[in-house]
Amino acid sequence: MSALETFEPVVGPKGILTDPNDIAPYAVDWRSAYQATPVAVLKPATAEEVAEVVRRAAEQETPIVPAGGRTGLCGGAVALANGPPSIVLSMERMNKIRDVDARDFSIVAEAGCVVQNVQQAASDAGRLFPIQWGAQGTAQIGGMLSTNSGGIRTLRWGNARELVLGLEVVLPDGRILDDLRRVRKDNSGYALRHLFIGGEGTLGVITAAALRLQPEIKRAETAFVAVPSPDAALSLYGRMMESGAELIAFELCGLHTMQTAERFGADLKMPIPLNSPWFVMVEISAAHASVPLREMMEETLGAAMEAGEVTDAALAESEAQRLGIWKIREDYPECSRMAGPMAATDTAVPVSAVPEFLNRAISKSQERWPDGRIAAIGHAGDGNIHFGLQAPEGWQDDRQSWIEKTDGFETLVNEIAVSLGGSFSAEHGIGQSKRHAMQAHKDPIALDVMRELKAALDPKDLMNPGKVFP
Ligand SMILES: Cc1cc2nc3c(=O)[nH]c(=O)nc-3n(C[C@H](O)[C@H](O)[C@H](O)COP(=O)(O)OP(=O)(O)OC[C@H]3O[C@@H](n4cnc5c(N)ncnc54)[C@H](O)[C@@H]3O)c2cc1C
Repeated sequence: MSALETFEPVVGPKGILTDPNDIAPYAVDWRSAYQATPVAVLKPATAEEVAEVVRRAAEQETPIVPAGGRTGLCGGAVALANGPPSIVLSMERMNKIRDVDARDFSIVAEAGCVVQNVQQAASDAGRLFPIQWGAQGTAQIGGMLSTNSGGIRTLRWGNARELVLGLEVVLPDGRILDDLRRVRKDNSGYALRHLFIGGEGTLGVITAAALRLQPEIKRAETAFVAVPSPDAALSLYGRMMESGAELIAFELCGLHTMQTAERFGADLKMPIPLNSPWFVMVEISAAHASVPLREMMEETLGAAMEAGEVTDAALAESEAQRLGIWKIREDYPECSRMAGPMAATDTAVPVSAVPEFLNRAISKSQERWPDGRIAAIGHAGDGNIHFGLQAPEGWQDDRQSWIEKTDGFETLVNEIAVSLGGSFSAEHGIGQSKRHAMQAHKDPIALDVMRELKAALDPKDLMNPGKVFP
């Protein structure tokens, strides 16, 4: 039976794409590093439809690739180029907010809800859904959870995992695991939801989630600061933590990344001249308007300036300026795509080890690839630095040739992070692109246990095969 004959009766004509032109956007990842055309794209509208699709696919032994907003950076939502014919299961029609409960500080959203819409629904109820990052206008709740996404506010409210109260999941055999409760305490056996959070669609399809909300931010102070070194940035981080306010974002940005944003970003305005090797974007907040945040920020920055840890600073004077600072950070990934090919990493180390990590990574990379441009930017308050090596100005060749030229870069950086007690995969997941790193760095016993879990839940290996496992 063709895909159309098998699945159209389940999802209806609106829920299936088989025309190659319609399928094309689902056949390539955000970085254009992975391409594979599925036999069909299915767009179920309910958990029951997802379950029936999964059952029929299992009968035919057709692999399923769940897809959210397709902003993932590791090729997880694209079928395997040389794999068996697969279907992409797009969650975009499952986009209802099922419930917002301000008294409970919770929201129940379907997996296909765009993250920004969930932020908005929370805000309409006088609450905060705190996760925030550059792709929030496209990424979906299901993708956010399946990659255990982080972003700029992880240091205060945790990554996606920490925001989940309950999940609804379609298992690889088509059963619906209904754990969509908003209860805060439940020690009745294994917390199964944690298998699917960060599972990258290899153990089932998330169809809905009950998520924690926070009190709304009533005041925020944001600064764009020049610092002479990562070590100075770390001292500033300590001061901000002790400022008496809630530190909710602390981003460290190397000079090249800010020059890239200034050059390629439409409407981006740098708050201070780019006369420093490093910059920090920092935000403190309060859930009550009377907290003297401005004084706290000024006092903290003043002390840091006196100590030589800060050489220049601009404080946002309006909400528009505050958003302008965060727009620089959020638009940077798009700007960096325009600046040329990049060998990228996604490491985390203990916060105190960030300066050591950067010193080693910079000197080793410059030794081996002196023409590469160091692009270091990240959530320093979580120890999560995206350390990249961008092709030199005027690089004429394609992305692939730069990746070949920098062969060994990723391993080098990952090894430095791991040797400092860190991780080679901080917030983007593994997908296809970091499978070799799993082989190199993941504890073999942890890998064994992961394989046993996968075999127990998905014995035919039909849920997003070829992802995560080396
Ligand atoms: C400009 C930009 C900035 C970014 N910044 C950050 C950042 O600061 N922090 C960060 O953590 N990430 C960041 N990312 C990465 C990306 O946005 C996140 O990984 C995001 O969570 C992916 O969500 P998505 O809906 O696009 O998922 P997709 O890319 O569609 O899918 C990602 C993975 O999840 C699986 N999946 C998707 N939906 C489901 C589902 N319902 N059930 C089961 N599996 C599913 C897919 O199979 C795939 O393996 C950024 C990406 C871009 C493009």
